[in-house]
Parts: sequence; C-alpha cells; structure tokens
Amino acid sequence: MQLTADQRTRLEELIELTAKSRALRHEHENPIEGPKLQELIERHKALSAEKAAAAEVIAGFESETAELTAAIDKQAAQIAKKTTELNDGTGLTSRDLVHLQEEIAAHEAKVAEFEDTELATMERLESAQAEMAGIDTRIAEVTEQGRTTQTAIKERKAALAEDMDELGSQESQLKADLPPELVRRFEGNVAEGGPGAAIIAGPHCQACGQEISGATWHQWLSEDPNEVHTCEECEAVLLRRA
Ligand SMILES: [Zn+2]
Repeated sequence: MQLTADQRTRLEELIELTAKSRALRHEHENPIEGPKLQELIERHKALSAEKAAAAEVIAGFESETAELTAAIDKQAAQIAKKTTELNDGTGLTSRDLVHLQEEIAAHEAKVAEFEDTELATMERLESAQAEMAGIDTRIAEVTEQGRTTQTAIKERKAALAEDMDELGSQESQLKADLPPELVRRFEGNVAEGGPGAAIIAGPHCQACGQEISGATWHQWLSEDPNEVHTCEECEAVLLRRA
C-alpha cells in the first residue's frame, strides 16, 4: 500500500492528534486536582473523628458538672434543714446544739470543696468547647476547599471532554481521507495502547521499540518512502521518514 503525498501529511497529522487525544483522555481519567481532593476527603474524615472525640469529652465534663451541682444542692438542703433546727432549738441540749453546728460546718466545707471541683471542671469544659469550635471551623474550611476543588475538577473535565470531541471529529475527517485498511490497523494499534502509526528514521519501530531486521530494512529503503509497512511486533502502521 502506497500513500499519496497528501495522505502522508494526513497520516502525520493523525498521529499528532491521536497523541493529543490520549494525553487529554489521561488527564480526564486522572484529574490533576484528584489527589488534592482525596487529601481533603481524608482530612475531613480525620476532623470528623476528632469532633466525635471532643464531643465525648464535653459530654463527660457536662455530666460531671451536673453531678456536682446536684451534690451541692443536697448539701445546701442539709444546711437549711439543720440551720432551722438550730434556730428553733426546741428540746435540744447545748451538746446537741454544738453537734448541729459542727454538722453544718461539715456540710459547708463539703459545699466549698464541691464548688472548687465544679469550677475546675467548668474551666476544662470551656476549653473543650473552644477546641470543638476550632474543629468546627477547620471542618468548614476543608468542606469549602473540597467543594471548590470538586467544582474545578468538574469544569476541567467538561473542558477536556469538549476538546476530545473536537479532536475526535478532526481525526474522523483525516481518517476519511486515508485507506480503510490503514485506518483499521491504525485503530487496532491505538486500541492496544499504541500511537497507531509511527514515522521511522531507522530500523526500529517507534511505537514499540522492536528492531526491524537488516534485510527488511534494506528492502524498505529501496522502496518509495510513502510505502506503508506494519510492525511485526505491535502491528503499528510504519512509514519511513521521507
Ligand atoms: Zn512496533
């Protein structure tokens, strides 16, 4: 099979467009910002786990505080009851009165102790809540970045798809001007991941690197440079450099 000079130009253009299409398809399947998006998803996951842990800590401090408040109320009720008994004083010996005073003092000491603990717990609760607010802020940031990245990927993919369509129709036009048998072999090699065709300057297939035997190469050298050959190894269409 021998190509005309025009067809040779078409084939050379087709090789170039096919390589461009392949690069675009590769980027379409592996978006440049894909790893960034993946990293943001991982960070979001890690922050969610941090948030759950912080919520547990907060719940712990809250129930501790509630328990201390209840304990203080109980002591206060005892103090009120015993103070009333003391003020009333009916039927009490001086020994009983001293005893009641001692008990009230003990209850008051307990209240002071619980209040100290409660204050410390509330401080820890506040810092846990501040930490939680920080986590929420970071989650919002990561979510926003994730959204932006996702949109950028979507838009880039749409642009690539448009370019691929355009290249595809240009390729079809070039193929229409080439012999169907050549196009069939070209497409077969592309389907196998090859460039379809290659222009060779020496006895090596530019598509797969296979060496072409000396005898074959000499035979090809004696022929018109527009004579179409096929790589025995990868079946790419080969054309000698003019
Ligand atoms: Zn080859």
